[in-house]
Amino acid sequence: MNARIFLSAPDVSGVEERYLVNALRSGWVAPVGPDLDAFEAEIARRCGTAHAVGVSSGTAALHLALLALGVGPGQLVIVPTLTFAATANAVVYTGAEPVFVDSLPGDGNLDPDLTAGVLADLRREGHTVGAIVPVDLFGACAEYTSLEELGVPIVEDAAEALGSSRDGRPAGSFGRVAALSFNGNKILTTSGGGMLVTDDGDLAARCRHLATQAREPVAHYEHRDVGYNYRLSNLLAALGRGQLTRLDEMIARRRQLRERYLKLFAATEGTRLLGEADPGSNCWLTTLVVDPQRAGWTAADLGTWLAARDIETRPVWKPMHAQPVFRGRRVWLTGVADRLFATGLNLPSGSGLREDAQQRVFDAIGEFLDAR
Ligand SMILES: *Cc1c(COP(=O)(O)O)cnc(C)c1O
Repeated sequence: MNARIFLSAPDVSGVEERYLVNALRSGWVAPVGPDLDAFEAEIARRCGTAHAVGVSSGTAALHLALLALGVGPGQLVIVPTLTFAATANAVVYTGAEPVFVDSLPGDGNLDPDLTAGVLADLRREGHTVGAIVPVDLFGACAEYTSLEELGVPIVEDAAEALGSSRDGRPAGSFGRVAALSFNGNKILTTSGGGMLVTDDGDLAARCRHLATQAREPVAHYEHRDVGYNYRLSNLLAALGRGQLTRLDEMIARRRQLRERYLKLFAATEGTRLLGEADPGSNCWLTTLVVDPQRAGWTAADLGTWLAARDIETRPVWKPMHAQPVFRGRRVWLTGVADRLFATGLNLPSGSGLREDAQQRVFDAIGEFLDAR
């Protein structure tokens, strides 16, 4: 029997094992230590930023970024409706309100023109917009050039985009501050973890302070702020350092897989890959978009077919405005996010997918297409 094929399974090797064991033997089994310092420096270099702060998750990174920008009760924060819930949840943690904005059809990222209009509406109504949190969806960087000119602090949700770039700028370098995730299914994993990256030294220091229980630098425990226990552990940072030595290789494998999918679907009427024209994407997940009228079948049909063959796929994120938890929040729609949710399917995209497993996926899709 063949093993189940996952959407994006962790890809770890002997390299990570050596880093982890060395950290364990060094005695730094603590939420701080030399591997954490080194991992922060290495990620900052990779993202082209002056500072990095390792934290326990991407969600924690988003939460601290918003807090450090002064986002809180009475403010609104613009978030793409097409994202993972953590982007919007982090806004709610601060006491601010998320407002949801639709996406561009090409890559599913926040629509900058629509965002400019929403911002003008909200300002006219007298609201304070504390931040905009664009998301680099499935690894493709959003369009920041015009967003950065709107006069509102930008927090880049780069949870899915480590190693990507756009217009010659690396993911993580856009806006005032960016959040990365090292969760188990992300392009680089520490099993669980995240990082803030920024050029703003004061902002980085503020996040570091809040992440370490807001302890003042005195011998007795002194606190002026409510803090959080959000730091990344030294052991997990060591695992991340091992992964980082393999990041380019892992991205190259995902990109090869993307190119194979492109070839496979090139001649299939009514299909396209989301963001297929983006040369800077790390190809974290490859998303097939199916026009059922033209194709004669739906994305869900293919998902069901592959599930029966023990191959995992997943719909595109269900938009936030359609989530019960965010019912009643304000939203500006063009229909793109709803359409991508209805017609998109994330295909197996992991860098650890070996040749025989890839072949199984491509054979199964080929049989599906032949049977139509
Ligand atoms: C994964 C993800 C997060 C959250 O990261 P965690 O490390 O799982 O907390 C936030 N935003 C987006 C877009 C994500 O994909």
